[in-house]
Amino acid sequence: MGKTLVIGAGGVSHAAVHKMAMNSDIFTHISLASRTKSKCDAIAASVKERVGVDIDTYALDAMDVAATVDLIRKTGAEILVNLALPYQDLKLMDACLEAGVHYLDTANYEPEDVAKFEYHWQWAYHDKFREAGLVAILGSGFDPGVTSVFAKWLKKHKLDTIRQIDVLDANGGTNDQAFATNFNPEINLREVLQDAKHWEGGDWKVTPAMSHKVEFDFPGIGPKNMYLMYHEELESLSTHFPEIERARFWMTFGDAYITHAKVLQNVGMTRIDPVMHNGVEIIPIQFLKTLLPDPGDLGEQTKGKACIGDIVTGQAKDGSGEKTYYIYNICDHEECFAEVGSQAVSYTTGVPAMIGAAQVLKGNWNEPGVWNMEQLDPDDFMDMLNAHGLPWQVHELDGPVSF
Ligand code: NDP
Repeated sequence: MGKTLVIGAGGVSHAAVHKMAMNSDIFTHISLASRTKSKCDAIAASVKERVGVDIDTYALDAMDVAATVDLIRKTGAEILVNLALPYQDLKLMDACLEAGVHYLDTANYEPEDVAKFEYHWQWAYHDKFREAGLVAILGSGFDPGVTSVFAKWLKKHKLDTIRQIDVLDANGGTNDQAFATNFNPEINLREVLQDAKHWEGGDWKVTPAMSHKVEFDFPGIGPKNMYLMYHEELESLSTHFPEIERARFWMTFGDAYITHAKVLQNVGMTRIDPVMHNGVEIIPIQFLKTLLPDPGDLGEQTKGKACIGDIVTGQAKDGSGEKTYYIYNICDHEECFAEVGSQAVSYTTGVPAMIGAAQVLKGNWNEPGVWNMEQLDPDDFMDMLNAHGLPWQVHELDGPVSF
C-alpha cells in the first residue's frame, strides 16, 4: 500500500523493519537511513536472510532537513517512520512537511540540553500538518503507544469515563550484564533519573526519582518491585481524557539497576551538560553510552518475559457502576529473538511502530493533524497486535488498585 522511509538503525528499528518486511502487502517498499550506514546494511542483510525482502539503505544525518527532504523525494516514501532519537523529532517533522509525507515516531521531542519529556513542541505542529493534509502520529511504541491504545479501546468498548489509570511496565528479562539498559542508555537514564511526576486531582504531584516502590504480582512474571516515575503518556492521556482524576506510570527495576544508576548519577556520569576533559568537551552521559552494552546486541542472551499494560477504573458503559480492568501483553524475550533477532523491549516498540505506520498506509488514521495514539480509533490496531506478535488480554479486577 505504500513506500516507507525508516530513520535510525538501532534496536527498535531492527525489529520494526523486520516486521514491515513481513507485511510487504502494506509496506510495498522499505528504505532505511541512519547516521551509520553499516548499521542499516546489517539490518537489510538480516531482513534479506530471514524474510527475503530487499531494503535500500542510506547514510543520513537526520538533523539536516534539506538532506532528509532530498532522501524522501528520492525514495518516493509516503511515510517517514522516525526510529532515531527524540532529539531528531522536530527536524524530521519539518522535513516531512516540506516533502509532503506523513510522519510517525515512538518518543516525544527532547532538547539535548534539558531532560524534559513534554509534548508542547510537537503539538505546536498540529495546524501545519492539518493545513498540509498530512498525518503525524506521536508515540507509536509500547509505552507510549500500545498503552494509550489500550486506554482508548477500554474507553470505546467498556467504560464511559476513566477515573484513574496506572500504566505498569515490567521487564522480567535477565542477561549476563552487570548493568545494561533496555533501550538507548542515554535516553533511558535521562528518563529514569528525572523527578517522578504523576497526575492527581487536576495537578502534577512531584516526588524524588525512585522514591516510591510497590511490589506487584505481574502475570507471566511473578512479583517484582515497580517504581513510580514520570512517563510522557501521562501528559497526553490526562489532556485527551480530561475526566482522569489520577494517572500514574510504574516501571520495574532490580536492586542492582537502582544501585548502578544512583552511583553513576552521584559521580556525575549521567550529566547532560558539556564538561571539559583533557581539553576536549564531552557530555558525560554520551560517553557513558559508549561504554555500556548496546541493548540491541543483548537479544541472544536475554531470557524471561516482559509484561506491559494498564489498570483502568471508570464507569461501565452498561450502567453497572464502576469497573476496573487490567489489559496487558506478555512478551517473551527468547521468542522475539527467534523471530526477528531482537530482545523483547526492541520488539515491543518496533512492532507497534510498524502497526501505527500500517494504520496510516491503510487509510485508517487519515485525519490530517498531529495525534497521540489515544485520539485515534483503536480497533484495527488492536487486531493487528494480536496478529503480529503482541497478543493482549483483558480481565476485570475486583476493584480499583489499592497501592
Ligand atoms: P538506538 O540508540 O539503538 O538507535 C537509535 C538510532 O538512531 C541509531 O542507529 C543512531 O545512529 C540513529 N541516530 C541518532 N542520531 C541520528 C541522526 N542525527 N541522524 C540519523 N540517525 C541518527 O535506540 P533504540 O533503538 O533503543 O530507540 C529508538 C527510539 O525508540 C528512541 O527514540 C527511544 O526513545 C524510542 N523508544 C520508545 C519506546 C516506546 O515504548 N515508546 C521504548 C523504547 C525506545 P548511530 O547508530 O550512528 O548511533
